Amino acid sequence: MSPARVAVVACDTYEPAVVDAAVGRAIGLLGGAERFVSAGERIVLKPNLLVASTPEKAVTTHPSVFAAVARVLAEAGTMLTWGDSPGFGSTAGVGKRAGLVAEAARLGVRTADFSHGREVPFPEGALIKRFTLAEGVLEADGLVSLPKLKTHALTRMTGAVKNQFGCIPGMLKGEFHTRMPDVDRFSQMLVDLNRLIAPRLVVMDAVVAMEGNGPRGGDPRHVGVLLVSDDPVAVDALGCRIMNLDPALVGTVSWGERLGLGSASDIEILGDELPIFADYVVNRSAGSTTGGGIGSPLGKRLLAPRPFIVSERCTQCGTCVLVCPMEPKAVTFPGGDRSHTPEHDYGLCIRCYCCQEMCPERAIEVKTPLLGRLIRRT
Ligand code: SF4
Ligand code: SF4
Repeated sequence: MSPARVAVVACDTYEPAVVDAAVGRAIGLLGGAERFVSAGERIVLKPNLLVASTPEKAVTTHPSVFAAVARVLAEAGTMLTWGDSPGFGSTAGVGKRAGLVAEAARLGVRTADFSHGREVPFPEGALIKRFTLAEGVLEADGLVSLPKLKTHALTRMTGAVKNQFGCIPGMLKGEFHTRMPDVDRFSQMLVDLNRLIAPRLVVMDAVVAMEGNGPRGGDPRHVGVLLVSDDPVAVDALGCRIMNLDPALVGTVSWGERLGLGSASDIEILGDELPIFADYVVNRSAGSTTGGGIGSPLGKRLLAPRPFIVSERCTQCGTCVLVCPMEPKAVTFPGGDRSHTPEHDYGLCIRCYCCQEMCPERAIEVKTPLLGRLIRRT
């Protein structure tokens, strides 16, 4: 089998002319847009619109990257739409804050329906045999994925494979967390989802990435590249290398290779040198992020990493309670009193980290209990 080909192209700023040139060069290195799309096809652009946030926070795909890719695909004669199902908030509201609504309007790219969905059988799925996909994905002939390189409490790194999770509309995403609370099974589900959608092309925005308490509450980190390929596993494997993170620790990458979605080990890099940041702030510990393999519920409670609220930063907004997929909720206001900081029930908590992901105040961190830290050291 021939190696996966990934164009790594230096892009130091989000200056539109610089990004346009970098995207054009990257797609050119791969043989041109016509290798991935045909004139007259309906292509849906899928940026990362996790939650309402302005571009400089590095939470969402930058509008310059969105616009540059849209221009290249429009020149190739495609009919473009765009959309995402955010973790919290509406596509219109989140897209407006991220600067994408304005870019899409300027370029004449219609908004696709990511609020409603239809069930699609997928008998080839290794773990999941049917998915409900957004109408906007089903109506298109193909999808071009525009992920952002970020850290993630559950999957350590979020990038190309995880970006397609937003093709599942609304609250249905939460069901996957409760049905498969272990990160290993969750990663297999994401790989199946990508095998079904089969993105035509991935353009990863790693100009300014995120490190630390990602994917929302982390810190921007200037990386200065775009990664472009038709292989989402290869893009994510290189994303891991940028973070100095072993790709074998990332389920979406290891399962992605094992289930035939793409290649993590045989990659041909075209273009520029891949930057590697030895000091990138990311979870490199070998232990499971969800406590998988620990065994008893008590063991998990004592050893597994857990979300933890820094009460000084909490504004009692209630987002964490709202997004927790558990019933009864694993994070609640004590006694229902909204003037107090919410509290976690670690017996109920499945470690999906949706609360940490969505907290608008960066008030939720993920910590491993002392016993777990001691055991990992031995
Ligand atoms: S989401 Fe964050 S700020 Fe809002 S109540 Fe929960 S911990 Fe506090
Ligand atoms: S409390 Fe947080 S980590 Fe635990 S199940 Fe709820 S959302 Fe997930």
